[in-house]
Amino acid sequence: MMKKELADKLFGKYPEFFMERSHRWPRLSLLWNRITNSWNLPPLTMSLMRFSFECGPGWYDLLDNLFKNIKVANKSPLFQIIQVKEKFGTLRVYCNFSTDIIEDLIELAECRSSRTCELCGKYGKRRGKGWISTLCDLCWEEDQRRKNVQK
Ligand SMILES: [Zn+2]
Repeated sequence: MMKKELADKLFGKYPEFFMERSHRWPRLSLLWNRITNSWNLPPLTMSLMRFSFECGPGWYDLLDNLFKNIKVANKSPLFQIIQVKEKFGTLRVYCNFSTDIIEDLIELAECRSSRTCELCGKYGKRRGKGWISTLCDLCWEEDQRRKNVQK
């Protein structure tokens, strides 16, 4: 899991992408529903970001870069990131009201995550059979050692 301190840093840097975490959310969500209704847009998907970033701290820079690029590319005040997690060893980012450009940026970040250690951020590889994770040599060795101790 992302350390709370790092997660808070991302939430603090890009608050506009995580409006559900704002203390103004109860009021904002009413306004939001009114806008999506009158513009005939699909309803807002519930954000899962209250569970924080469901991936390791090694992907912090990847996410920070991705959000920085999205900030430049995004034109919609409705754009929201609703889930960030690890799946089959790589990053997954889901959002509301994205565009082709934003989807491309996300795909690039997901691709980079398959070569970035999820624990420390160094160059990594996808490893493991059942449970796949992307780790550098050192973190992988440590992970294996810990598992052997538990047996
Ligand atoms: Zn590592």
